Parts: sequence; structure tokens; C-alpha cells
Amino acid sequence: MHPEQAGRRLRRPSALRTVRVGDFKISYVPDGAMLLKPAGRLPTAPASRWDAYADHLNDTARLVANTGGLLVELGPEALLIDAGFGSRLVPDDPSDPALGAVHGGGLPAGLARLGRRPETIGAVAFTHLHADHIGWACADPPLFPAAAFVVPKSEWAAHRLPPEAVRLLTPRLALVAPGEEVFPGVEAFALPGHTSGHTGYTITSRGTRLLAFGDALTTPLQIRHPEWSASDDADPHQSTRHRLRLIAELRRPDTIGFGIHFADVVFGRVQDDAWVPV
Ligand SMILES: [Zn+2]
Repeated sequence: MHPEQAGRRLRRPSALRTVRVGDFKISYVPDGAMLLKPAGRLPTAPASRWDAYADHLNDTARLVANTGGLLVELGPEALLIDAGFGSRLVPDDPSDPALGAVHGGGLPAGLARLGRRPETIGAVAFTHLHADHIGWACADPPLFPAAAFVVPKSEWAAHRLPPEAVRLLTPRLALVAPGEEVFPGVEAFALPGHTSGHTGYTITSRGTRLLAFGDALTTPLQIRHPEWSASDDADPHQSTRHRLRLIAELRRPDTIGFGIHFADVVFGRVQDDAWVPV
């Protein structure tokens, strides 16, 4: 990729993007964007570093993160991993040191572009239960009328969701433990630190695999700097430990990664200390 084009992709939200992994068609379906204030979001990064990494910051000096979902299709069957922010906009609060404006709303249109009717999605699996991952699962009336809501057991045990979200999620809850299959060829793996029950999903087919790692990495810069835990990591040391383990897995040649918050470079491989978009 031309360096100038690669640079632009680091500073804008992701387009709808599709990759093939063996028999799977896997698409990032955008819902919206979330702007992160770099110094507050990655408080252990030295301030001087942001000059060197200016190519990762947009014209308002924010890291550009996405809200959305990962549509995993196997013939007529479909799983969605994470469910965006939902149709709303939260403006920037200048007193918040880490989080800027967040908006969602695009996910249904993205599914339509892919020709996937929401009622044919059999399950929505969550990496964790933060608001930017459960948005459309809490839509009322429901967007996914036939879906089970697959929630990591340890994440559900520790959640601090508002009562309305609990009311909407509970009737369709399917709790999952690490190592269990949530869809044919898709397995949950423990990736704690961001939250205590934070979970990744491995999608394997025909000798290749994709790791959907949620918020274990929220910017590709953490591949070079795994010690830069996010300000909203519940346990920064645990998150660094598991980030190192994850990065080692992503270095395997049969593996591609999916970073939901990675600007317009959501699919990639780790080569040396760099994220190489695919
Ligand atoms: Zn998130």
C-alpha cells in the first residue's frame, strides 16, 4: 500500500470491509466512531511520543476508534461479534480526559449492504459488555429477534449494566466459558484485563484463523508498546500480560487479527512490531 494512503487509513473510521478465512466470509460492519484523547486514554505513553505518532491522530489530535460489529457468515448461518453503540450520539465532554465524541447508527445499513437480514443472525457474541459493544443488542424493539446473546460467564458475573440493558439481554442469554464453541469453527478464549471477563474469539477454517481480540488492543500502537494499557482497562497489569500473549499468537503466519477499534485498519497481521493491514 502507498504510504500516504496507509497514513490516511490510520486517521479515519473503518469502511465496511470483508475478508475470507477458509470457508468463512467475515465482514467488519461499521456502526460509527469513537474519538479517543491519546494522552488520557494511554496515560503511560510518554507525552513526547505523540509527535512521533502524529500519523495516528486526526486533525483534532484524536485517535480514531470504531464502533461496530464483526459479521461471521458460513453459508446461510451468521454470527455477529459485538453490536456497536446503537443509534445515538454522545458529544465530547471537555472534562473527560480520555473519551471524546461517540456516535453509532450505521450497523443496520451495513448489514443491508451485505444482504444479511438481522433476523437471520442466530447469535450475537460479546467480547465484553461496555456500551460501545452492546448497543444494538439493547435496541427496543429488538434488531436481532432470533439471536441468542452469547456472553462470557465471568463477564456476566461482574457486569455493571443499567437495569434496562439487563432486562433486554437476560431472556436470550447464553453464557460461554473459554474453550467453548459459540458457532461452528468459532471458539471463545479468555483475554482478561480490559474487563475481568473480557473474551476473544478464534475463527478457524482450512488451516487459517482470525483472532477477534476486542479491546485487548485498542490501537495498533500497543503492538509496539504492549505496556501502554488503556485508562479504562480494569486491571492494567493483567491487560499487558495478556496483550503480550495475544501479540505472540498474532505473529503466527496462519493468523490474521481483527481490532474493532483500529481506525480503518481493522484487519491485519503482526510482522515484527508492526500492524500490517490486510
Ligand atoms: Zn470498546
